[in-house]
Order: sequence, then structure tokens, then C-alpha cells
Amino acid sequence: MKHYVLIVEDEADIAESLRYNFEREGFKVQIAESGEKGLRLALDENRPPSLVLLDLMLPGMTGIELCRRLRREPMTKKMPVIMLTAKAAEGDKLTGLDTGADDYITKPFSVKEVIARVRAVLRRVDSETVQKYEDGQLSVDFVDMRVFCSDEEVKLTRKEFALLTYLAKNTGRVATRQNLLDNVWGYSYFGDTRTLDVHIRRLRQKLGDCGDCIETVVGVGYRFVGLKS
Ligand code: CA
Repeated sequence: MKHYVLIVEDEADIAESLRYNFEREGFKVQIAESGEKGLRLALDENRPPSLVLLDLMLPGMTGIELCRRLRREPMTKKMPVIMLTAKAAEGDKLTGLDTGADDYITKPFSVKEVIARVRAVLRRVDSETVQKYEDGQLSVDFVDMRVFCSDEEVKLTRKEFALLTYLAKNTGRVATRQNLLDNVWGYSYFGDTRTLDVHIRRLRQKLGDCGDCIETVVGVGYRFVGLKS
């Protein structure tokens, strides 16, 4: 089945260039020039998008507001959203991610990068039920709770394993520090984020050659990128 990408973008040049390239890569595409139209198309029961590419700066309903609306509706609660933002300010990225966006891309971007990010998010969504992460070098078994790097078993603590699992299950997606604390430590956790950074550092050390599978997203959090073989 072809993936359908809904592009919510008021700048016609950008929207058309994205459409052209996504269609060439075999995607179905629809463009909404405003947040209101984007919301209507996203909520179309007969034709729900696989993913929404959402510009932050729109006339009328903003991208942030649209994203909030999508997260409130049962039908679109889990619909993947990637934000396109001209703002490089960390605060805006965080607002976007805390609103529930899966990832963000800062303008100006290369269309190639956008397509790669979209594919990464769709792969994750398609494989949400998987029980194992595996690339040429690293393997993480979510069920047996065992980790191997280049065929050598890596012994992790329960917390380190939970952290790695959360990141690996969200491959390609930025996890903010708050996301990680909420999901790995639980909502009752009130400590500071340094604890998290210490755990990540130890996890990377233990993973040795495979430590590069976790990327630091400066000022925001971490992203599992796996290992390119
Ligand atoms: Ca815009």
C-alpha cells in the first residue's frame, strides 16, 4: 500500500517541490495551504494520511495548534507528525515535540532529508509491534531483555535496558529529556535531568563500538539512529 503524506504548508513553492519529490518516490500526496484545511483532511475517515508534514508558521491556525488538535482527536491521536520550522530556536523545537510532534526539520531543508526522516518515522510506526531491534552490529531483544554488540553480549542494568528499549523502539525519533524521564523513570520522578545524562553516558560506554547508535540532539534530548553497516 502506498503511504499518503499530507503536507500542510502555505508556501506554494515549498509545498510543490515536496509534492513532486514525494510522488517520484512513490508516495501519495495532498497539500493543505492552511491549518484549517489540514485538520479537515487529516480527519477524513475515508482517507486518513499515513503522516502529516506540518509547517509551524501558517496563517490562521498555527502548526502548533493543529498538532494539539490532532493529538486530542481519537482518530489522529497517534498519527505521525513531522514539523517543518523556520525557527531554529530551541524553545520552538521543544514546544513542537512536547505538543506531540514525532520529529522536526528546520528550514531550509533538503528534500532528500525530509524524505529520509519521513521514511524513518513510517518504518517505526509500521514496526511498532516488533519484539527486536537488529542491524548489522547491534541487536536488542525487547522480550528476552538481551543486548548484543558484534555478537558479544552487553550486560545492562534494568534502567539502562529500559532506556535503550525506549530509544530503539522510537528509532529516528527525537526523545526529549522529559519524554525519557516520563517513560523510563515514570511520572513520579522529580529528580533533575543530569541523572538521565549520566545513564546515557554509561549506556554508551557499555555498548562500546555500538555506542554511536544513540545520537545527542543538543539542547533537546537523544535520538536512536542505529548503526549503519
Ligand atoms: Ca509558512
